[in-house]
Amino acid sequence: MLVYKFGGTSVGSVVNMNQVKDIIATRNRKIVVLSAMSGTTNALVEISTLVESGNVNTAKKCIETLNETYNSVVYDLLQDETLRQEVSNYVNARFRLLLEATSEPFSNLLHNTIVSNGELLSTFMFSRLLQQEGFSVRLLPALDFMRVDSHNEPDNFYIKQNLNRLIDAESPADIYITQGFICLDAEGQITNLQRGGSDYTATIIGAAIEADEVQIWTDIDGFHNNDPRYVNDTQALSHLSYDEAAELAYFGAKILHPQTVMPVRQLDIPLRLKNTMAPQAHGTLITNQIHGEGIKAIAAKDGITAIKIKSVRMLLAHGFLKKVFEVFERYETSIDMVTTSEIAVSLTIDNTTHLEAINEELKKFATVDIDEYMSIVCLVGNQIIYHPDTPELFQVLQDVTIRMIAYGGSNNNISLLVNTSDKLETLQKLQRYVFESGLVEV
Ligand code: ASP
Ligand code: MG
Repeated sequence: MLVYKFGGTSVGSVVNMNQVKDIIATRNRKIVVLSAMSGTTNALVEISTLVESGNVNTAKKCIETLNETYNSVVYDLLQDETLRQEVSNYVNARFRLLLEATSEPFSNLLHNTIVSNGELLSTFMFSRLLQQEGFSVRLLPALDFMRVDSHNEPDNFYIKQNLNRLIDAESPADIYITQGFICLDAEGQITNLQRGGSDYTATIIGAAIEADEVQIWTDIDGFHNNDPRYVNDTQALSHLSYDEAAELAYFGAKILHPQTVMPVRQLDIPLRLKNTMAPQAHGTLITNQIHGEGIKAIAAKDGITAIKIKSVRMLLAHGFLKKVFEVFERYETSIDMVTTSEIAVSLTIDNTTHLEAINEELKKFATVDIDEYMSIVCLVGNQIIYHPDTPELFQVLQDVTIRMIAYGGSNNNISLLVNTSDKLETLQKLQRYVFESGLVEV
């Protein structure tokens, strides 16, 4: 069985939904995971924020506007009168519930309930489109099998049991449709896998059914060798290893949710990225195979905070690093980059929820400097640290202030910390040097 996941743009219009329908019209059995139509989750987050801040009337107006948009999509999508009526009833009922939600007291659960509507709507509409076109299709409600545990990690045993039970329960279908992103928490309440989490849903499902392949269909033809939002003439990469893809996704390549690679890497299930708007393009195939050597791709992650922690005793007393890391562990704050000198350690975090408390604790045994608005520029490629051309990149960047360098932590990654205001220049200089000089084959 295959798993296909289609992102917000892929289901973002009637034309694109029909394109998705054509893409999945192959003979293999498959589970199709869908995002919300593009823009919908953002609109729902906004509605939730309005409810939270007591702007109930504005929230209601937004809900009504969104309802109208969906009504016109339903009208264009379906020609069969019975199906059109069924979907229209479903859509209106969901929006009625949303309107009712605006008068409830605000809570995390209310927020999660509001934002879950995008995927519920898109999957219902799409499953009825397939039905209209004569496909053998069944809707699998994600909330009947997707669950995270008390650490917010996928509850793989539960997911596997329940998903397989649901698939086996009724007569088999060729295509199963389910919602990305949404799931239950350990208490059985509605939550989600964070923004962009539908990719993660797809690979969790892929692992649960031991799929032959997971395909993520989006609006770009795979991973690019640099960030196409900031750099011209980037190119799609045809192959990446799980490690390379995981690092690029984690360090800012927007195409994949950062956790996506993990479930399929463990079972060696190929992960393919494809472009809904150009299905014939090769895309990126992610497997355990290693292709090429040296710098292959660059990504950047913003919103990084650098923390320099200097031991108050001049020499790095033993146990100092342990004490430092224990503070971060206590506040469940993960560290991305680390460099040390004899008397200090510098590290970066991207989650500043507990920064104040962390700072207070560190100050008991160290002096602390905090710098915000930093970016990590991450260079990825097989054996990158051994490649003879790699050190030259520091000449190219001689005018850029590099705050930290992580070199050698893994053979496949070099990370540079720069001020976010220098990020664009860094990415562009690296692009010109690495890919245009022809030093490294893409
Ligand atoms: N709809 C959700 C979002 O916009 C999940 C996803 O698209 O992956 O974040
Ligand atoms: Mg996405």
